[in-house]
Amino acid sequence: MDLLVVGAGLFGLTVAERCATRLGLAVTVVDRRRHLGGNAFSDLDPATGIEVHRYGTHVFHTSNEAVWRYVNRFTEFTGYQHRVLSVHAGKIYSLPVNLGTMCAYFERVMTPDEARALIRSQTAADVDPTTLEGRAIASIGRPLYEAFVRHYTAKQWQTDPRNLPADVIGRLPVRYSFDNRYFADTYEGLPADGYGTWFERMVAHPAIEVRLGTDYFAHRTEFPADVPVVYTGALDRYFDYVHGALGWRTLDFEWRTEPTGDFQGAPVINYADPDVPFTRVHEFRHLHPERRHYPSGTTVIAREYSRFAGPQDEPYYPINSPADRAAVARYRELARAERRVLFGGRLGTYRYLDMHMAVASAMTLVDNAVSPLFGRG
Ligand code: FAD
Ligand code: UDP
Repeated sequence: MDLLVVGAGLFGLTVAERCATRLGLAVTVVDRRRHLGGNAFSDLDPATGIEVHRYGTHVFHTSNEAVWRYVNRFTEFTGYQHRVLSVHAGKIYSLPVNLGTMCAYFERVMTPDEARALIRSQTAADVDPTTLEGRAIASIGRPLYEAFVRHYTAKQWQTDPRNLPADVIGRLPVRYSFDNRYFADTYEGLPADGYGTWFERMVAHPAIEVRLGTDYFAHRTEFPADVPVVYTGALDRYFDYVHGALGWRTLDFEWRTEPTGDFQGAPVINYADPDVPFTRVHEFRHLHPERRHYPSGTTVIAREYSRFAGPQDEPYYPINSPADRAAVARYRELARAERRVLFGGRLGTYRYLDMHMAVASAMTLVDNAVSPLFGRG
């Protein structure tokens, strides 16, 4: 073994594949879960044969040519384009906020200029644009903020939107056109044969050994001490929480098989109001309209609930409170001092990463940090 990769999420899989194929290294990948792909994992629901995303709907999207070329080596992508709806006060609207949302909410037909003027008149001058609330009000005005963002965000984060950083909502575009696509990237789609098949192909190399169901910390002594490690597990766990535990949000999914061929008519519907306890409902059959073999009388849905993660929970979203940011800076200092361990990925850097960002940063790590370690720089 030349290199040990901790974590078989997209970051770890990309590192392993690049190191085996391009650098000719023998790589062992360990993951404590019993499947590849981290949170992007999907498999077939045994009762219905419908592909379900076990950690919530994952749609691949990127504008990075190198990443798109790279992932296409392992899978074809369908032409799926993500669109999301939001239920508020008994009516349904399209998201992210676009001209269609504005016309429906204010119950009149508006041109883009008329809508711009209206929203401008609704944005207060005294908001703090560094907070989620301030950024949202500045971009969509107070009424739309109150309807679609305030309570949804409160459910998802259980934190006052005035104490959340603006970049959380920065991911969502605001459009003065009827374009209601969720993502604005050049390339978008779902792996045609499923996420599982894609990830299997990434590690189908004789120089890659995968050990699933293997927690690094429980098996650490089995690996030679001088072998370099790419670590994509939690940063605070690696250092035994010396600077305290970093804050994460976790999700609970309530799974249901419903006796209908179509439960809600769309892949994802958000629930913006506080009286509904879940944030959104996923209906997985709609991610693959091209799959004609899906059953016609049954469907799989998952209601998503959000809460603070405890020590035993899967971490999903970094909270990034001021205390978290201070602790992360100290952990990063410790990480820099680890000579033969490289930290990467969502957990290892305490950053929200989309799949394409995980792939891109893993490719960079291989080029800039792993290659020089093996004299291949
Ligand atoms: P992960 O996928 O988290 O992989 C890390 C792996 O390390 C895990 O498998 C974990 O089990 C393993 N590990 C941790 N500790 C140990 C240990 N001690 N020993 C062994 N193994 C360990 N991205 C998109 O592009 N599109 C989307 O639509 C999208 N939707 C998302 C929806 C949700 C609800 C969430 C939470 C994320 C979403 N993402 C989406 C982001 C995506 O899931 C990942 O964050 C991204 O692929 C990062 O991958 P990663 O390898 O860095 O981390
Ligand atoms: N958001 C919202 N209302 C919605 C959807 C999103 O207020 O209907 C806010 C919320 O604060 C969320 C952020 O926008 O955390 C980012 O949304 P996104 O859909 O990117 O989150 P994810 O899919 O990663 O959960």
